[in-house]
Amino acid sequence: MSAALLARPEIAALKPYRTARQEPGTVRLNANEVPQAPAPGLNRYPAIRPDALERRIGALLGIGEDRLLATRGSSEAIDLLIRTFCRAYADNIVVAPPTFAMYQVYANMQAAEVIEVPRSAERDFAIDVSAILANANDASKLIFICSPNNPTGGIVPRTDIVELLRARAGRSLVVVDEAYVEFSGERSLVHEVDRFDNLVVLRTLSKARGLAGVRCGAVAASRDVVELLRRMLPPYAFSSPTTDAVLNALADDATAGYVTAIVSERERLRDALAKLDGVEQIWPSEANFLLVRFGDLGAVERELASRRILIRAFDGCPGLENCARITVGSPDENALLLDALRETVAS
Ligand code: PMP
Repeated sequence: MSAALLARPEIAALKPYRTARQEPGTVRLNANEVPQAPAPGLNRYPAIRPDALERRIGALLGIGEDRLLATRGSSEAIDLLIRTFCRAYADNIVVAPPTFAMYQVYANMQAAEVIEVPRSAERDFAIDVSAILANANDASKLIFICSPNNPTGGIVPRTDIVELLRARAGRSLVVVDEAYVEFSGERSLVHEVDRFDNLVVLRTLSKARGLAGVRCGAVAASRDVVELLRRMLPPYAFSSPTTDAVLNALADDATAGYVTAIVSERERLRDALAKLDGVEQIWPSEANFLLVRFGDLGAVERELASRRILIRAFDGCPGLENCARITVGSPDENALLLDALRETVAS
């Protein structure tokens, strides 16, 4: 059964809005635009679909445009998936906490239930495949797997994902969120969308490519699923300055070199943190952040706040007592952090 058949029936039947035609070299009197512009071209609606953008991202990821949809950040992709597949008050998503909280937030907005199957704190927050399969039911349309996982940093083994894909074929889509994959030693699963009809992979330009400000991500999936998700996007979703900014940033490939620097800085930061008395545990990370357990997170937060340094505390989450996620910054920023932490321990 095609995974697209799992969609909400009203979305499967949805007739998309027909926008005014756009053809190069025409006099455009069909879209109620005005002829004057504060900056060249801004009086005109952008492309209905960001074809050039999708071609470029497709080339970057090594996947055809027909299996790829550009979205405004991968956050939007999460929202589109949930609204496309989950009927309100009927369907559910499965998540493996601690993990990225937006899966839950978007599910709440759509009145989709959230089934939580916790990761194992004893095994560096590995997912529990058999527990996920035991807890998923006929209404579980989407299983979200974040790898490397935010905020714990570890990779989910490919064999675990393949097991989920096989076991849930025809029943659930397995959504692998690869926001941080470039920082890991792991290959992306985007190429596997040809093999597994129920696989969806989320990618983003916000992290390794340094483009968080433009809001651009992508979903890789089977043609049918991409076609369904496309219907859910508003027309003219991508502004022309966004598209131009992304194409320019990716053109000379300057962003391709960011990862090496971050990964070596991550390891340097890990070594320095490991030497501090107030640090109790640092989890293995394949992302651009480290999950750290402190002896006294409150004291750390107070010291950092007094120096106007922000880290992300996860103290309220089960299994993450006294833990914080620290993003790997520039060498200067990391030095400021380490100075502050040395001070906290000394006091
Ligand atoms: N997935 C994960 C795991 C994330 O950590 C984030 C951002 N923090 C996102 C998706 C969303 O990123 P964006 O919308 O910028 O692509």
